[in-house]
Amino acid sequence: MKNRVLFIFLSVLSIYMVYMINTIEVFPMKGMIADFRSPFLSIPASFLFLILGIAFLYFAFKKKLDIPEYLKCPTCKETFTYTNLKDGKCPNCKDIDAIDIEEYYKE
Ligand SMILES: [Zn+2]
Repeated sequence: MKNRVLFIFLSVLSIYMVYMINTIEVFPMKGMIADFRSPFLSIPASFLFLILGIAFLYFAFKKKLDIPEYLKCPTCKETFTYTNLKDGKCPNCKDIDAIDIEEYYKE
């Protein structure tokens, strides 16, 4: 969930860079001045950030489709596969949401 927000942010940032390169053209970057008035610099730079923007967007929405293979119930500590669950909830404890096993061990 946190990763998706980060990837969307990075994607927006990359697209914003493309916009910056093609409008402002000259702007300070980490203490030095980046001059994008030359098409030899602005075209590859725009292209690079556009690719980055698309790649970050791809990762942001790829994450969403990932279904965890194993899940754990925080109450009864039982491990389940996704197909054993009823709407993502523990079949033993009823209204308790099972969580991704990786998330479980992180906490
Ligand atoms: Zn349970």
